[in-house]
Amino acid sequence: MLRDRQEKRLKEFIDLCRRRGMRVTNQRLEVYREIAEDLDHPSAEMVYEAVRKRLPAISLDTIYRTLDTLEEFGLIFRVDEVCPRAHFDANMAPHHHFFCIRCGKVLDVPNVWEDSSHILDKVSGYGRVKSVNLQIRGVCNNCQNIPEKTMEKEKNHAKHQRD
Ligand SMILES: [Zn+2]
Ligand SMILES: [Zn+2]
Repeated sequence: MLRDRQEKRLKEFIDLCRRRGMRVTNQRLEVYREIAEDLDHPSAEMVYEAVRKRLPAISLDTIYRTLDTLEEFGLIFRVDEVCPRAHFDANMAPHHHFFCIRCGKVLDVPNVWEDSSHILDKVSGYGRVKSVNLQIRGVCNNCQNIPEKTMEKEKNHAKHQRD
């Protein structure tokens, strides 16, 4: 089921690239695939770590540039409403994000408004709107089951492993 969906998304991606006049390169495909398959909205560094396993010669700089290109062509977007570090999303259907203030996870929330035109009407005098975001912050179900003290320890541990 999941595989089918991923395959479908990749095919759509290639179609869309052609229609928008963007050349489909292996690098772009691999970067996109990583974002489309990772439901956690990966950051550029996370994409880099994963893509490097398949394309060992790729640099972080290339990842940044590829992400910029994909964003420019409207194939992915940056989720940066709350997080200081940008996360990337290949789900272009209207939806919102739930940011967990404890673990930093970014979860997809279904769209709550059918029609955002009334919002656009109200803000049209300020400039051209590119996107409208609902900011949802909270503690995810997973973190709610973990006492705060344990959480802190895990966070520090994870940080040490990364350094
Ligand atoms: Zn959490
Ligand atoms: Zn999302």
